[in-house]
Amino acid sequence: MPAPTERKDLAATKMMKEVMGKYYMDLMRGREEGKKTAWCTSVGPAELLRAMGFNVYFPENHGAMLGATRMATDLIPLANARGFSPDICSYLTSDIGSYLKGESPFHKMKMPGPPKADVLVYNTNQCRDVKDWFQFYAREWNAPCLGIHTPRAIGEVESPIVEDVARQTESLVKPLVEIAGTKLDPDRLGATVELSKRCTVLWKAVLDTAASVPAPITFFDGVIQMGPAVVLRGHPDAIAYYEVLLAELKERIANGVAAVEGERFRIYWEGMPIWGKLRDLATQFAELRTCVVASTYCNSWVFEALEPSDPFRSMARAYCNLFICRSEDAKEKHLESMMAKFKVDGILYHDSKTCPNNSNNRYQMPQRLHTKTGKPFLVVNGDLNDLRLYSEEQARTNVEAFVEQLAGA
Ligand code: SF4
Repeated sequence: MPAPTERKDLAATKMMKEVMGKYYMDLMRGREEGKKTAWCTSVGPAELLRAMGFNVYFPENHGAMLGATRMATDLIPLANARGFSPDICSYLTSDIGSYLKGESPFHKMKMPGPPKADVLVYNTNQCRDVKDWFQFYAREWNAPCLGIHTPRAIGEVESPIVEDVARQTESLVKPLVEIAGTKLDPDRLGATVELSKRCTVLWKAVLDTAASVPAPITFFDGVIQMGPAVVLRGHPDAIAYYEVLLAELKERIANGVAAVEGERFRIYWEGMPIWGKLRDLATQFAELRTCVVASTYCNSWVFEALEPSDPFRSMARAYCNLFICRSEDAKEKHLESMMAKFKVDGILYHDSKTCPNNSNNRYQMPQRLHTKTGKPFLVVNGDLNDLRLYSEEQARTNVEAFVEQLAGA
């Protein structure tokens, strides 16, 4: 059997880097070309903004870049010194620290840095932090900040909630028209929702390939491969990319190629990635011949409810279906079905210190799911971006012990 490798690179990744590079270039060139830039939260109304001709920028993507490049830990204290607590979202604090210090991973790509916003548009479906984050920049630049306030802990996504969120989304059109200086073309909105839907269908198909045994893709690949689904939904480049990636994964399945050589165990990752430690964790799991096959995080950019013929209502339904804004019962049901679908042997919860919104181990979920499924669980304490909150040694030991536990089960 071949030795476990750190990561089996996917050939499509080269194209993904080109697609992402082009997106960033277009973003940076926008102002010269007279295009307006809208900042958007990751599950904000991107389709609407794109249909109105805005360049759409997602600061959470920049937050993840700050984490993955390990720049975040040094930048966070700058935001703390300006009154943003070390306990709040470390995307927010690292991004604001980056702004205050004038340092960004974009500079290493020979790009000027995040584009200044003409408007900032948030959706609180994920947390309140995004609104506070956007309001900081709105004050800095005297820019308009608009938003959608979505209820949290949603059980069933019922019509009154959908209608309310749809109405809020529709009410953004008037101020956005004034900022963009163009009218909203309903056909263009429908076409953009259609592109977004096609992206979602492909991205879901990509993630679903990991239900095969052995899995052709890991969570650690997924968090890199999800870039176009996050920043380019509603754009044809994302679709073109996922068609190529999906074909490669299907080929891996047909040829029995495993993402983790000699896959012995399969794990579900619940919670945020630990961006600065992706490579180390991928290597450790590969050495343990254990594949992290699926995650809540990567699946958060699957928006099956999108419907081009009913854009506002379907966008609202899709954004309210988001795992993070659902009730504990709805989350439990979802996790149980994902564990069965991906045939996992256990589940790892990342308790991310600065993102309680996306840490689902704090209200007895692990214990309840263990009782229901009999599958063991592990809680890893850490953070998405602030590596001072992560003990590498402790995590390594705990992961090792967990896999031993799976071996003895
Ligand atoms: S969901 Fe968590 S990581 Fe994402 S913006 Fe909100 S607090 Fe930050």
